[in-house]
Amino acid sequence: MSDLVSIFLHLLLFKLVAPVTFRHHHYDDLVRMLYKVHNECPHITRVYSIGRSVKGRHLYVLEFSDYPGIHEPLEPEVKYVGNMHGNEALGRELLLQLSEFLCEEFRNRNPRIVRLVEDTRIHVMPSMNPDGYEVAAAAQERDVSGYLVGRNNANGVDLNRNFPDLNTYIYYNEKNGGPNHHLPLPDNWKSQVEPETQAVIQWIRSFNFVLSANLHGGAVVANYPYDKSLEHRVRGFRRTANTPTPDDKLFQKLAKVYSYAHGWMHQGWNCGDYFPDGITNGASWYSLSKGMQDFNYLHTNCFEITLELSCDKFPLQGELQREWLGNREALIQFLEQVHQGIKGMVRDENYNNLADAVISVSGINHDVTSGAHGDYFRLLLPGTYTVTATAPGFDPETVSVTVGPAEPKLVDFQLKRSTPQAAPKRRIPNSGHRGRVLAEKVQPRAARKKETMMKQPQRGPA
Ligand SMILES: [Zn+2]
Repeated sequence: MSDLVSIFLHLLLFKLVAPVTFRHHHYDDLVRMLYKVHNECPHITRVYSIGRSVKGRHLYVLEFSDYPGIHEPLEPEVKYVGNMHGNEALGRELLLQLSEFLCEEFRNRNPRIVRLVEDTRIHVMPSMNPDGYEVAAAAQERDVSGYLVGRNNANGVDLNRNFPDLNTYIYYNEKNGGPNHHLPLPDNWKSQVEPETQAVIQWIRSFNFVLSANLHGGAVVANYPYDKSLEHRVRGFRRTANTPTPDDKLFQKLAKVYSYAHGWMHQGWNCGDYFPDGITNGASWYSLSKGMQDFNYLHTNCFEITLELSCDKFPLQGELQREWLGNREALIQFLEQVHQGIKGMVRDENYNNLADAVISVSGINHDVTSGAHGDYFRLLLPGTYTVTATAPGFDPETVSVTVGPAEPKLVDFQLKRSTPQAAPKRRIPNSGHRGRVLAEKVQPRAARKKETMMKQPQRGPA
């Protein structure tokens, strides 16, 4: 190879791997960046669109996996969503930085990143609200102030108040009996939500996501479910009440992993607010209906938290590098959290994979289901658990499992088809998944402390 060719190739390569500069990216620029990363790392990435915004902009996702486009059984799916509020720009830029970082470090054979990409399928959506972003960015460029300019989509709707409200059902079910997992969508849900929300709902229904974070701005705190308080507005004041999920300890840990790996979130004092450990239950901060976080938990297998990442919703360009350095380790550690608890295959006696089998953990009133390939993932803190797998037409199988702090424990189930004669006469009709969950014991929330603190003064919704 001649020296000239070598120099040319070197320059070309250098140009291709030139880092994402620390600046804000308009839509066209964002799309170019996603394809740039894909071109740099074609074997571990895929760009796809989940639909379009009101104004027709694509909602792009960049996927990282050793087999992009393919679900490998026992390899968990995890997602990041940024810029749901169009004026909250930091998450969008951090996710572009993260994409570039994963690609570069994989190419550099960084063992931690290679392992992460090989063991995990990572979906990164830098902007859920590209229309709102353009409005916010234009206002920034004209130096027009306005705390909420560009927050909503092009129809003026706040996308984080636009998901079907499933909390009402589970709060009712908790008192009166009934499931708090995999609640069905209302029949007419599509007519009730915005195009961006509809696209996201179809997206999260089509992958068996296990873990997720939704990146916002306007505060610095890791916020975990539930977002919607059990209490209601009383005489003009919004009451807040810590409203934990059955997975409260796990959610607190997930939030703490982020806050403590973050440069300053864990310190607690940020943007004039104080949050111990840099985390908060959503409802105990302020109650929010129809949010994406609660919807993930109540409708799917996905555990989602909401990350508030900057006091300034649209940080100056000069602050982006510091923000990236403050968030980089946290963004990686959070992804690694998907590898804990238990996972495994659910099969029948002939080794056929069983989709939609229900995995229940004794003492935690929130089930997960196996995906289309028969694999399931159940995030759990270290401890010993009694775990039961059930599927319609099969006998349940129960095992005792001890979960350690590191690797997820592999627990496979092989279910035996139940014989019709064996069915007891008092058996609930159609006691498959639906029948079983309806018949399941209702765990009273004795431990819930109905704190009725008054809401702290808010600078504005984050
Ligand atoms: Zn927000």
